[in-house]
Amino acid sequence: MQASDFPERIQIQTHSYCNARCIMCAYPDTVGTFKGGFMDEDLFVKIINECSKHQLEKIELFLMNEPLMDKRIADRIRYAKKKNPNTIISLSTNASLLDAGLADKLIYSGLDWITLSVHGVSKEVYEKIMVGLDHDKVFTNINTFLSKLKKSGKQIIVNLVCKEALLSESEQELTKKYWGERGQKIHMGLVNNRAGNVEGYDELVPQSFDVFPHCTRPFWFAGILFNGDVVMCCMDYKREVILGNVKNSLIQDIWKGDKYTKLRDAFTKKDKEGLLLCKKCVMNKVPDKEHLCKI
Ligand code: SF4
Repeated sequence: MQASDFPERIQIQTHSYCNARCIMCAYPDTVGTFKGGFMDEDLFVKIINECSKHQLEKIELFLMNEPLMDKRIADRIRYAKKKNPNTIISLSTNASLLDAGLADKLIYSGLDWITLSVHGVSKEVYEKIMVGLDHDKVFTNINTFLSKLKKSGKQIIVNLVCKEALLSESEQELTKKYWGERGQKIHMGLVNNRAGNVEGYDELVPQSFDVFPHCTRPFWFAGILFNGDVVMCCMDYKREVILGNVKNSLIQDIWKGDKYTKLRDAFTKKDKEGLLLCKKCVMNKVPDKEHLCKI
């Protein structure tokens, strides 16, 4: 497979923090293993300006974090869209900070796509999974956002997601019904082990897996951490595979450099030893539904 000339999709981590401790996420298990921080404005502008010289499919202003903890997020979306008018600008958030004021700012920022992670609809189930978040506040936020978006007439794609394996069948039905009544479809996804970074994953979703054969991510995706480090994948919570740093280099030079080339060779040859993260990753393996964990 040929790599694209420049990443088709880039995730930018404008800061490294999250305000939740969800049971299926790698963040709580890895947060002590790396130094955190916020991205400098100059670095953000440099990245966006370089992206504007290429035609990307998507620029995603989140990466292993809760993006709404960045007070400048709406301004950063506006800048990214201004410089990349034909690229989808997206966010993925737990919506706990999406109050009415921020909803207005985001709706008019140039945002094209928002993914909302909402695992369950009952207070007890939701708060057991999304540890640290307040069910009532989040649901108020999302409903306010949806109603403001409708009134605005803006075309932002709302992608509601939850992990099917974490919900009982009755909770799944309640969840679908709740969002259906509000004109929204909820996408039930698989629980990912985040390349071995979720502790207790085997107990949470017991299953066997192989090194998966279908992933092509290093041929079209790049992730940029708050400090400029480029990671091969959004699964790399411990920052194990750093391919360069964009503070003093171009994204394009890193993308075409030796480290990326070696990594793609390992993919092409299915060389497990060259794929530190991928050999632990279950991304494309469909779990056996008989063994799903039910909360
Ligand atoms: S196999 Fe997993 S860790 Fe490797 S690039 Fe794909 S998603 Fe990332």
